[in-house]
Amino acid sequence: MRGLTISAHGGLDRLEVRDDLPVPELRARTDVRVRIHAAAINHLDLFVVEGLPGITITPPWIVGSDGAGVVDAIGAEARGVAVGDHVIINPGIGCGSCEYCLADEEPLCPRFNVLGEHRPGTIADYAVVPARKLRTIPAAIPWETAAAFPLATLTAWRMIVSRAQVTPRDTVLIWGIGGGTALAALQIAKAHGATVWVTSSSDEKLARAAALGADHGFNHATLDVAREVRQRTAKRGVDVVVDNVGEATWQRSLLALGRRGRLVTCGGTSGPMVQTDVRRLFWNQWTIMGSTMGSQAEFNAISAELRAGRLLPPIDSVFALADGRAAYERLASGAQFGKVVIRLADA
Ligand SMILES: [Zn+2]
Repeated sequence: MRGLTISAHGGLDRLEVRDDLPVPELRARTDVRVRIHAAAINHLDLFVVEGLPGITITPPWIVGSDGAGVVDAIGAEARGVAVGDHVIINPGIGCGSCEYCLADEEPLCPRFNVLGEHRPGTIADYAVVPARKLRTIPAAIPWETAAAFPLATLTAWRMIVSRAQVTPRDTVLIWGIGGGTALAALQIAKAHGATVWVTSSSDEKLARAAALGADHGFNHATLDVAREVRQRTAKRGVDVVVDNVGEATWQRSLLALGRRGRLVTCGGTSGPMVQTDVRRLFWNQWTIMGSTMGSQAEFNAISAELRAGRLLPPIDSVFALADGRAAYERLASGAQFGKVVIRLADA
């Protein structure tokens, strides 16, 4: 079968399309094999190519975490899906037996696995995953939309709904609108009635975010976002900041955050080390919360949204498998608005 692979860590020139990969076999009786029709890439995938601490790969390693396709084979004890079903994949896989997994908090599992990172990924003709990580979707949903949906929407759902618990009373500030998770956070926060302000270095992206419901946009290249926020709120500050940028924005996030504010993060694309003045933290009674991936209940919730035709992810671009490296370069450029998708099967 075909797949996008790496055989060593390094730059994006390590990415290689191969057509001599073995079709994967089911590894457990609860496994399902999916004929992948489309895959989507996330910042995580860029980090996997560079190499992550503690992660070793077996060459040729198939990359990619997001995917959607048709069930091709099922194990004897696989439940909930049948051959021929259209499915989306939750790429985060816990051990299933630790205290966190038993409490439906798989992202906290000490043995948490992610497709493309710890297990063979989704950018290939076939992928094998446990049946409980699949949800069926209507055949009418385009493959690009289905593939672009799971990881960004699941991550944003946990951040906005479960962690920050955004309500219609909240004003939410989201950095870097254009990335998949930021856009999903915008859509989810609006669906929960919040006022949502977004930032970008591109006025065009701000205009497109407004069309998706953003109430206000700040160009962070030309404006002091924290100062603008304090002006617009009569010095009160916002209730929630979604900051997945990290080093480059953390100080401004805290300056924009009001009393009893919540800062939620699922990543730091500009760098991991941030500074927080503990005096301001306690005085303002802030909550700083981390979040990653999502639980089965959260995956059920977003799957229901997709089946209902809601929270559909904006698609930036679609690449053929042969152009897989160009897809990664598009994501690495930061120029995208929405998800970057790689198409596998044609029909
Ligand atoms: Zn576990």
